[in-house]
Amino acid sequence: MLDIQKIRADFPILSEKVNGKPLVYFDNGATSQKPQIVIDAEAEYYQEINANIHRGVHTLSQLATDAYEISRVKIQHHINAKFSHEVLFTSGTTHGINLVTNGFASILKPGDEVVVSSLEHHSNIVPWQMLCERTGATLKVIPMNEDGELIMDAFDALLSEKTKVVTVNHISNALGIINPIKYIIEKAHAVGAAVLIDGAQAVPHLKPDVQDLDCDFYAFSGHKMCGPTGTGILYGKEAWLNKLPPYQGGGEMIKEVTFEKTTYADLPHKFEAGTPNIAGGIVLGTAVDYLNNIGFHNIQKYEEHLLEHATKRLLEIEGLKIYGTGKNKASVVSFNIDGIHPYDIGSIIDKLGIAVRTGHHCAQPIMNFFCIPGTIRASFSFYNTKEEIDVMVEAVKKAKTMLS
Ligand SMILES: *Cc1c(COP(=O)(O)O)cnc(C)c1O
Repeated sequence: MLDIQKIRADFPILSEKVNGKPLVYFDNGATSQKPQIVIDAEAEYYQEINANIHRGVHTLSQLATDAYEISRVKIQHHINAKFSHEVLFTSGTTHGINLVTNGFASILKPGDEVVVSSLEHHSNIVPWQMLCERTGATLKVIPMNEDGELIMDAFDALLSEKTKVVTVNHISNALGIINPIKYIIEKAHAVGAAVLIDGAQAVPHLKPDVQDLDCDFYAFSGHKMCGPTGTGILYGKEAWLNKLPPYQGGGEMIKEVTFEKTTYADLPHKFEAGTPNIAGGIVLGTAVDYLNNIGFHNIQKYEEHLLEHATKRLLEIEGLKIYGTGKNKASVVSFNIDGIHPYDIGSIIDKLGIAVRTGHHCAQPIMNFFCIPGTIRASFSFYNTKEEIDVMVEAVKKAKTMLS
């Protein structure tokens, strides 16, 4: 089992006080905290090898380039991509998704269909809507049930030879539901559609295997998996990345430039215009190492206990309703208390040092489905404890008494 106190000592922020109380950080779904090794690696890069990459013959430039490319290979192995050039550095999930939707603008035609799910984050809805507006394609939505699960019969019925892309998140950020993506990918491929998986909420909890999943694209952010903000990865199958046009033009992504014509660089550089977040890309590799040292199997087992404990304790509170009651769930609890606005509870428990997210969680269609303005979301990481959950439960009880 995990030595949680030892792990907690890796995260300096966890010993901070907020509003005079020990911090209880349950907003991991928005961003994770960073271990000292990640914080140090960022400073070390700037102190020791800072230089621009892929363009200098000088020693520091080569050291920086090597560190950046080693990180790419590390992430390739982490997600089990076939080639390292299928691993593109991005600024985050949003960037990765927009890179793909931009590319599909030259592929989709009026009458084509794009299938998204009703559980998506806005960043996996809006870019597809923009794409449909540009191309005349139609957006179709996989519906969900009262437990927050996607309805697979309805999904099957949406698919046809008109379906060109299917996109769904691996794990819902608002409810924590784990979607049956293997089934979705298989069915989508059967009608010839490409599949993009939004893995932003999955990568902190599990190790995706993109070859086993057989997805065409898998996008995620570094900052939700103990890495720096402004980092992320888009995995794309080689054939798709060769087919899509570049996203941005600029330095680094070219082979040859004249005013008549520019030829593009090979993968992955074709999609990496301009000077990237070099330090961030390198340090994302450090974060991946850190997580693998703890072990995703251990993380999952431990987080299951946290989820179970939180669900049981919260349901002791009269009038409390949990959203996302499906069986297959990550360590996220989204809830409301009868007659009380989520924001009011969030504000009161913040005074007690507890950080949770309140609101629509960038997933307004889900809130509309349940006819609520938002929820209180507690999202747990492997560095959280049952004792912290008990502190939150007592604080929510107190807030309820104050507000009702
Ligand atoms: C956080 C999140 C995103 C957006 O990630 P950014 O890091 O803000 O680009 C997309 N989808 C899901 C499911 C998320 O949780």
